[in-house]
Amino acid sequence: MTKQNHVLSTSLVSTFISSNSSPTTIKKPLAATTLRRLITTAIARKKDSVNGCDWIVDTLMTTTLFTRSPTRDLDLGASNWIVRRPSALGVFDEIMRAANGKQIVVFLDYDGTLSPIVRDPDQAFMSDSMRATVKEVAVNFPTAIVSGRCYDKVYSFVRLGELYYAGSHGMDIKGPSKGPNKCQKVHLQPALEFLPMINEVYRTLLEKTKSIPGATVEHNKFCVSVHFRCVDEKRWSTVAEQVRSVMKEYPKLRMTKGKKVLEIRPSINWDKGKAVEFLLESLGFANRKDVMPIYIGDDQTDEDAFKVLGDKGNGLGILVSHIPKATHAFYSLEEPSEVMNFLRRLVEWKRLNQRGQL
Ligand SMILES: [Mg+2]
Repeated sequence: MTKQNHVLSTSLVSTFISSNSSPTTIKKPLAATTLRRLITTAIARKKDSVNGCDWIVDTLMTTTLFTRSPTRDLDLGASNWIVRRPSALGVFDEIMRAANGKQIVVFLDYDGTLSPIVRDPDQAFMSDSMRATVKEVAVNFPTAIVSGRCYDKVYSFVRLGELYYAGSHGMDIKGPSKGPNKCQKVHLQPALEFLPMINEVYRTLLEKTKSIPGATVEHNKFCVSVHFRCVDEKRWSTVAEQVRSVMKEYPKLRMTKGKKVLEIRPSINWDKGKAVEFLLESLGFANRKDVMPIYIGDDQTDEDAFKVLGDKGNGLGILVSHIPKATHAFYSLEEPSEVMNFLRRLVEWKRLNQRGQL
């Protein structure tokens, strides 16, 4: 298949999904004949621009694309690459219909969601317009930043006191310092005892990687990030070997991989999903049918949060990605600029809702 066909076909699938279905409305897989008829109709509509699309039908027939169980998608392997979640902007009105009468709570990852991914992680600044948008969101909805960065670092980027923050992959949670949701009582550090160990590992990793050009080690208080985005690809394995050699000495720590980064953190049963659950409970929203959490994130660590919301069945995960990926999220946005558009529409929807214009 040519690259052009791939792009066109992916676009077609995306269009089809957006116009014909949504995880919020479809509760069980469509019958195979119905699914084939719908897809064939969609292809017929597009036949002038796309040729030879039978493979899409066959691929879609073997996926769980139209089920409410995105978890299964993760087990489908490489054949699942084609799946793109519907655009959260494309089905915005539908999402808002589902949210009507409910308290929306917003959870936002930082890197790659509010800010672009950049070569130097210390330069991952968010734009002033994004900051203003997030502030508007926080004024209208309880809003939390959930990041792998330590609290101090992510706060230095966001600089908004109106938000809840869950830094260090949710291991450092603090309430807003100002604004309508001001709440100093929300405070949790479930990995406090690991601080000396993390400090030690940070120093060791600095030493071990200093001879690898481009490798940087970031201390994120309760976890350590080893960035290799600027390392020559031929030396990526050397970075991994060095990190693994250090990890052998610390069985109470575990390593996960993000976007060109290796994350070392305590082996405790805590992640971004647990942080979301903790915050919802702290806010008095746990197990309430009239609450709709929305989580937007771009990385593997955000999947834990997507899964929590998917399992609860009352929240929405939105994956930020310009390529289809296996994910627990229900919807997608392509990049931070689309995240900003979505958040602006969310605020506008709230205003119109309050004025009774919806
Ligand atoms: Mg991210």
